[in-house]
Amino acid sequence: MSSPLPIARSPVEPLLRGEVPDAHWNDWRWQLRRRLTSLADLERLVRLTDDERAGIAAAPGLFRIGITPYYASLMDRDHASCPVRMQVIPVAAEARVSDGERVDPLGEDALSPAPAIVHRYPDRVLLLALDRCAVYCRHCNRRRLVGQDDGVIPKQDLERAIEYLHRTPAVKDVLISGGDPLTLSTEKLEWLVSSVRAVPHVEIIRLGTRVPVALPMRIDDQLCAMLRRYHPLYVNTHFNHPKEVTPEARAACERLVDAGIPMGNQSVLLRGVNSSARILEELFRALLRVRVRPYYLFQGDPAQGTDHLRTPVGAGVEIMEQLQGRVTGMALPRLVIDAPGGGGKLPIGPNYVLAWGVDRLKLRNYEGRVVEYPEPAERDCACPYDAVWLGDDRR
Ligand code: SF4
Repeated sequence: MSSPLPIARSPVEPLLRGEVPDAHWNDWRWQLRRRLTSLADLERLVRLTDDERAGIAAAPGLFRIGITPYYASLMDRDHASCPVRMQVIPVAAEARVSDGERVDPLGEDALSPAPAIVHRYPDRVLLLALDRCAVYCRHCNRRRLVGQDDGVIPKQDLERAIEYLHRTPAVKDVLISGGDPLTLSTEKLEWLVSSVRAVPHVEIIRLGTRVPVALPMRIDDQLCAMLRRYHPLYVNTHFNHPKEVTPEARAACERLVDAGIPMGNQSVLLRGVNSSARILEELFRALLRVRVRPYYLFQGDPAQGTDHLRTPVGAGVEIMEQLQGRVTGMALPRLVIDAPGGGGKLPIGPNYVLAWGVDRLKLRNYEGRVVEYPEPAERDCACPYDAVWLGDDRR
């Protein structure tokens, strides 16, 4: 087991907390209202580098800056390589557009049959609830949609999205994301979740949110009590670094899980932020401790202005190779590339099959030991009971 990582020697927290009564600090609406958005806000708290100053100066035409005081309190004031800082303070490279980068890297706009809907896979859709987030991440692949202003998606558009769900029986699974749906009021979110739940063929609802990471005080009893009325409901969140798994974040995740909501985590592999096996091992172990299952590890999408944060594909494969066998399989997410242009998620990873013979496979394990697996004599894998089971209307 690896030794604990050093923690930041110069956190920003005392500078922020010293001025703020607990009643404000623990109020998620106060946190949203008081997001840090400007050079003046940031230079009061951290020793900005010239690179960061240039990024902040360029940001207005590119992608907004917005950092909750809580998330800002996790920053290291002296080190620009702080993983929290790197996720929310822009640098000059963000203004560059590199080869292959796109405004809409996943081709979502072309897959929208109704307002606020992205329908890429047959049985599930993405419902974009609003265009506001608690923090604006420098690696965001949806920067064309979120953070331009704090407007909401018009209710008529959401109603048309719900109508689309009603008339599309193939849809079994609705992912409500955005923007961050948990920055809606509980009442507005309940209207949306209950409207989706009222679609007879929708089996599961998922919420995609960074709120447990950046605004954990939002996960209050009222929200959890509301959500638990609409099971089966899942929450996928987005921790990228173990530094983000604070006591406050832990309490937020545990409150959701205690309301019966299974939680998964989708990390993005970010160069210099979490692009090491040791950091990711610590993150994945920390997530399991707070009952959040690591689910996906995304290769960064080629969104405009994010080249400096992306890793070579081989780096992620190498990290997964190092983690395999070192941590429990429950801690290992799937490494995927979301194919540019709407091709969908493609799993990638180390290859453990050395040779595929007729009656046996030659494999290697995580230590490099070569093993053979004997194939069975019978090759026909049809399930005779399928016809009975699938034809039974009482199921
Ligand atoms: S929370 Fe998600 S949608 Fe919002 S800026 Fe960050 S990555 Fe983008």
